[in-house]
Amino acid sequence: MSKRDYYDVLGVAKGASADEIKKGYRKKAKELHPDRNADNPDAEAQFKEANEAYEVLKDADKKAAYDRYGHAAFENGMGGGGGHPGGGFHGQGDFGSAFSDVFDDLFGDFMGGQRGGGGRSRAARGADLRYNLRVTLEEAYAGLQKTINVPTSVSCDSCDGSGAEGGAEPTTCPTCSGMGKVRAQQGFFTVERPCPTCSGMGQIIQNPCKSCGGQGRVHKDRALAVNIPAGVETGTRIRLAGEGEAGMRGGPSGDLYIFIEVDAHKIFEREGTNLFCRVPVAMTTATMGGDIEVPTIDGGRSRVKIPSGSQSGRQMRLRSKGMPALRGGPAGDMFIELAVETPVNLTSRQKELLKEFEELSEENNPQSSSFFSSVKNFWDSMKG
Ligand SMILES: [Zn+2]
Ligand SMILES: [Zn+2]
Repeated sequence: MSKRDYYDVLGVAKGASADEIKKGYRKKAKELHPDRNADNPDAEAQFKEANEAYEVLKDADKKAAYDRYGHAAFENGMGGGGGHPGGGFHGQGDFGSAFSDVFDDLFGDFMGGQRGGGGRSRAARGADLRYNLRVTLEEAYAGLQKTINVPTSVSCDSCDGSGAEGGAEPTTCPTCSGMGKVRAQQGFFTVERPCPTCSGMGQIIQNPCKSCGGQGRVHKDRALAVNIPAGVETGTRIRLAGEGEAGMRGGPSGDLYIFIEVDAHKIFEREGTNLFCRVPVAMTTATMGGDIEVPTIDGGRSRVKIPSGSQSGRQMRLRSKGMPALRGGPAGDMFIELAVETPVNLTSRQKELLKEFEELSEENNPQSSSFFSSVKNFWDSMKG
């Protein structure tokens, strides 16, 4: 089921431009055209593969989705019911690799437990599992691959799920003759109790499987590599079809739901795709204007021009510096709110200058702004 990378298929580099992609495709299409490859049996499949890759990469939206999620971006809904490998994952051994298929819109499906198809009675489907995953805001920003250990019960290999050693059939319990109950005299009364030998099952396994103790299923931690796409937020649910508990008597496996919780961040607050933070600005910078550097969620820094005369509380926007949108579309913005810092621990020289500044302000600008009066108040309190 492994698909080749679309860029590789077209023989272009990952960040290739639309023009390069077009050229790459034309070249491949020429090489692989069925008319020229009558004696190459693989050419047709490769030609189709190149077409498929080009269909995606020529379309800006699809390309963006592919860049972010890889092939998983298009798996969902492909080819109707059989589109997802589903049950194909179980029995794959200890380490599976799974792609998220759809997000919270499937939640109803999970809660209801009612699924389409079938309708007839069938072997019991395994339970859905829930896994809570905490991620940092940085991880939610970038997306991540995480290996999680999923505690689950899987069909016992040693007994093939029957619970009996060597595959023997269970036999009727000799204590209760298969009734599951025993009668006991208690004073004048006769009471019925569940049979102690078979725990009320009516059948016993003479020689229980040593691996599973006769349960037919064993608990197992499975390591599962999961792709968490960029842009997830608290409450995002990711379904991994067929990664839940093994079914009973050969029934299909349940699904695994990953519930995301994004940790609070020490600087940023998030609202949808937008990020907000307060940034301290020196009084002198706010007064005279200047550049400051602010940290961004991608781990970098952005330069921001502070206009002269900026007051505390002034909001500024950094376009597209917010969170990516989970389902594609433009990224959010980052909003910063300026917090002008009042200087503290002044030297006597600084106090002198501020005093002079204050006197000049009274001559020059008798109706001082609230900012200047706050400097004055501060100064007054220093004197007090
Ligand atoms: Zn067993
Ligand atoms: Zn019994």
